[in-house]
Amino acid sequence: MAAVAAAVEREAGRLTELDAAIGDADHGANLKRGFAAVAATLAEEPPATPGAVLVTAGRELISTVGGASGPLYGTLLRRAGKALGDAGEVTRDELADALEAGVAAVGQLGGAVPGDKTMLDALTPAVAGLRESFAAAARAAEEGALATVPLRARKGRASYLGERSVGHQDPGATSSALLFAALAEVTAG
Ligand code: ADP
Ligand code: MG
Ligand code: MG
Repeated sequence: MAAVAAAVEREAGRLTELDAAIGDADHGANLKRGFAAVAATLAEEPPATPGAVLVTAGRELISTVGGASGPLYGTLLRRAGKALGDAGEVTRDELADALEAGVAAVGQLGGAVPGDKTMLDALTPAVAGLRESFAAAARAAEEGALATVPLRARKGRASYLGERSVGHQDPGATSSALLFAALAEVTAG
């Protein structure tokens, strides 16, 4: 989570630029605020288990991010954290199972499916890649984010633009790729 917060802080300008093209130019600021709060809360009161870390992070995102991405990322992490239960250690495969449940919950909450030009276009292939390695997950997320460029948005603010959303990379898919890049960075790959 600290690595994610640092990556979001570093890339906030780029995320907001992407959101300026097909949204309301706040995605970088939204996530910067959210993950800074996550990092601060986790540092103050370090949870005892990986599951509790994700549940706490998710709750913090939901309460600090006003935009659509707050409840969506919050749900992803909270649901994944619940799936991990109170295990003291978690394998990559267990994390993939948990994130798969989290991604399904994001789909349920937002009503989007892969191909709608949302964060799901990066999250879905990332979780599949996580079955192989952390590096494969990061690669798949990055490819998924790039693949949103030619898509027409069918969910979220960008969908109001219709055809004019074509030709721009989705901000949420881009931040999801950052998240998995940070995960690959802090693990053995
Ligand atoms: P807002 O659109 O409320 O300003 P953000 O700018 O923080 O919120 O986040 C926008 C991102 O949220 C989009 O780029 C997209 O990836 C994601 N998003 C929006 N709506 C949905 C949805 N219904 N399902 C999945 N992801 C969504
Ligand atoms: Mg926005
Ligand atoms: Mg907004």
